[in-house]
Amino acid sequence: MEKEKIYIIGAGLSGLIAALELEKSGFSPIILESSDRIGGRMKTDEVDGFLLDHGFQVLNTAYPEAKKYLDFQALNLKTFDPGAVIFEGKDSYIITDPMRNPLKIVGMAFSKVGTFLDKVKMFTLTQELKKKSNEAIFKEPSLPTHQYLKDYGFSDQIINNFFKPFFRGIFLEKHLNTPSRMFEFIFKMFALGQAAVPEKGMGEIPAMIRRQLSTTQIYFNSPVEKVEGKTIHLRNGETLEADRIIIAVQPDKVMKQLQGQFAPAHQVTNLYFSLHKSFFARPMIGLLPGDQLVNNIVFMDDVSKAYSTNGRALLSVSVLESDMGEKDLIKAVQAELEAISGIKGEYFKFVKAYTIPYALPSLEDLRYSIPMTECKITDHVYLAGDYLLNGSINAAMTSGRTAAEAVVHSYMPTY
Ligand SMILES: Cc1cc2nc3c(=O)[nH]c(=O)nc-3n(C[C@H](O)[C@H](O)[C@H](O)COP(=O)(O)OP(=O)(O)OC[C@H]3O[C@@H](n4cnc5c(N)ncnc54)[C@H](O)[C@@H]3O)c2cc1C
Repeated sequence: MEKEKIYIIGAGLSGLIAALELEKSGFSPIILESSDRIGGRMKTDEVDGFLLDHGFQVLNTAYPEAKKYLDFQALNLKTFDPGAVIFEGKDSYIITDPMRNPLKIVGMAFSKVGTFLDKVKMFTLTQELKKKSNEAIFKEPSLPTHQYLKDYGFSDQIINNFFKPFFRGIFLEKHLNTPSRMFEFIFKMFALGQAAVPEKGMGEIPAMIRRQLSTTQIYFNSPVEKVEGKTIHLRNGETLEADRIIIAVQPDKVMKQLQGQFAPAHQVTNLYFSLHKSFFARPMIGLLPGDQLVNNIVFMDDVSKAYSTNGRALLSVSVLESDMGEKDLIKAVQAELEAISGIKGEYFKFVKAYTIPYALPSLEDLRYSIPMTECKITDHVYLAGDYLLNGSINAAMTSGRTAAEAVVHSYMPTY
């Protein structure tokens, strides 16, 4: 098995998990990664005493696949307080734990976001989804999430003040067109688990998987130009002959015949600012309902102190849609931050921005898992990546595991 040439294209979560699973069956795969590091969409930079994740993202502690592959204690996970701070102009109010304990939210606090009936519906939805298996959730007929919420009977008030800003920040699209299967899955995960980041940033997640690899080799700066049969053409002109190939990146990147087959991805711009101190002083996400540029904000050092070692607070700001140049965007965001905090915009010192054009795949048919047979596209080529299932850490891991199982299966004798 060790001698089999198994190549994995991409060192994101799905590629790393595929390698880990192949090692467990005695294979020694080779990962070809176009960039100079692992992690794909999950990376953390160190800049001027700050830890900057490439885009605001969180690990949900209820993700079944993450529980299998990650040691939460060793990651020293830092959890967010459930709920959100909601900003309405200069006013702000906190809604605590709406997806786990909606009935515990005291009347006054809830009345700002929704009606009494919304509260009861939140409770029934929580109970229903806790009982529903993930597989069952992904077998439901899908509606756009905004339609699902209306049909469930939620008021416009709670849809606009809570669901929209909260789920826009997760789906990375403004209109909540994402299929309701994803809404139910994420809602359930928040009902069962907590949003968290590793103490030292999201990049610790792929790093932990990499540390579990022992015989896998990773070739960095090795972009693949195309895959033809069992041959991999690298962009530098070299070719590699493979026994099996796992394409752990959206396959149109390396199979030109698939170009145009995927809808444009959801994108986000994540800006970081530093401030003398946090104006939340609690590990909570801040939501801005309405049509501002800014959708959600978080002081990352309120969640994990390690995100700032220079004494200043680190504010992560997510902007969903903007065609502004960076300078104009920074100014516009500073003005919105001033409007909600009363702190002069210029005091928010710009640190860095990440524009991520391919943040989440745009998918119609969301799935929780796929049978091994479906990720095999020829006798030698297999697929992995979140785009096969749904845009999440859990899905990326599941897809990597399934592709590896399919490769292992292909070596089993057939009777
Ligand atoms: C801003 C943002 C927020 C998110 N928020 C959350 C969240 O809160 N919760 C959650 O569960 N998920 C979230 N996600 C989704 C999650 O990060 C992804 O689902 C997961 O990281 C995808 O892993 P992957 O292996 O499928 O793909 P990728 O991470 O994209 O990995 C693909 C790899 O292939 C490499 N590559 C590309 N082309 C080539 C080539 N030609 N040759 C060789 N290598 C190549 C890339 O460099 C990359 O390393 C978020 C993602 C982003 C970007």
